[in-house]
Amino acid sequence: MNVLVINAGSSSLKYQLFDTSTDEVKAKGNCERIGIDGRIVHKVPGKDEYVADLPMPNHSEATRILVATLTDPVHGCIASMNEIEAVGHRIVHGGPYFSESVIVDDEVIAKLELCRDLAPLHTVPHLMGIRGCMDAMPGIPQILVFDTAFHQTMPEEAYTYAIPKELIEKHKIRRYGFHGTSHRYVSGEMLKLLDKPAQDTKIVTCHLGNGSSISAVKGGKVMDTTMGFTPLAGTIMGTRCGSIDPAIVPFLMEKENIPASEMSNFMNKKCGFLGVSGVSSDCRDIAAARDAGNKDAALAMKILCYQIKKYIGSFAAAMGGLDAVVFTAGIGENTPEIREGGTKGLEFLGIEIDPEINNNIPRPIATTCISKPGSKVKVYVIPTNEELVIARDAERLASKK
Ligand code: ADP
Repeated sequence: MNVLVINAGSSSLKYQLFDTSTDEVKAKGNCERIGIDGRIVHKVPGKDEYVADLPMPNHSEATRILVATLTDPVHGCIASMNEIEAVGHRIVHGGPYFSESVIVDDEVIAKLELCRDLAPLHTVPHLMGIRGCMDAMPGIPQILVFDTAFHQTMPEEAYTYAIPKELIEKHKIRRYGFHGTSHRYVSGEMLKLLDKPAQDTKIVTCHLGNGSSISAVKGGKVMDTTMGFTPLAGTIMGTRCGSIDPAIVPFLMEKENIPASEMSNFMNKKCGFLGVSGVSSDCRDIAAARDAGNKDAALAMKILCYQIKKYIGSFAAAMGGLDAVVFTAGIGENTPEIREGGTKGLEFLGIEIDPEINNNIPRPIATTCISKPGSKVKVYVIPTNEELVIARDAERLASKK
């Protein structure tokens, strides 16, 4: 089945066209600068990249241009729009309303509207992307796949914050967790590699990228995760502070005269690697600065390693054991020293990395075991593929229709 996977942002619409019978990506690209001027960057394997500046006043027009490009005799890869059998949308926040992927209907849209308050920066563009696709591709099933859905299995003691119940209910405050599609994919791949019945497995998945989250997956279901009500919680990230003492927030607001909206921007954009190192949000720049003798950059990397170790240990305790640790996403797949630093000293838990393998993972990155043969806990690098999960869910639901 040909499935178009869409990731709609406020001014961009990234897409991939999958053939789910082979998992082949037939085309991928991005409609950029929507609402500003408009540009499509489009790539079909075996053909030159196509870039065109075209007016995109809104997401509907961007989607129309994207469909026209996919079906273009020169730059495209399909003959007509009818060859697109389903569209899968990546949705960042499904609130308490969605625990699995769904086909869009009026009720689904109404529930997604309720998520606006929880993640306005993401939900508003997602709605524009969905409506754009419904306009440009009428009659083609639209499927929503949520970053929060895989985490809906957390027990109440893991997702409840210690604040009054009335406020929790009124504002739908709880730990939601994010990157669920990635945690689901890599834990699913890891499950297949363990010589155990699925319901007995205990896996920690470390999605370490610009945004990072770590999850405890017991018996194939999330038991806990580091991100919370928003994707600001958990480990240190590129520009996000991660979990800090909540009292620091009003303290800084008062001392530095920072209003609430700016405080949120500050914690999301000015902290993390960037704030600690003063150099960059990018792990590669931080490592280079550290190698050049920058102590603040060295500290930023040490903080991440320490936190990874702390979360692996605490999640092993929460699950009552550990069979495997998985590293994925930009940093998890590409930075051996973070994998080593994040697991060093955990030999008492049965984790033993092979430094030789860890430092020499073949490229392009494929699923690789980096633990020693005798390591009780298996440690793997598994490249994530959120788009493939979205395409498969869309295919599954569209086939049922
Ligand atoms: P996002 O969360 O935005 O999807 P990524 O998963 O791409 O981000 O992760 C970005 C981080 O991964 C950056 O800190 C970057 O340094 C690191 N990274 C990405 N690709 C590589 C690479 N090929 N080699 C080393 N580090 C990489």
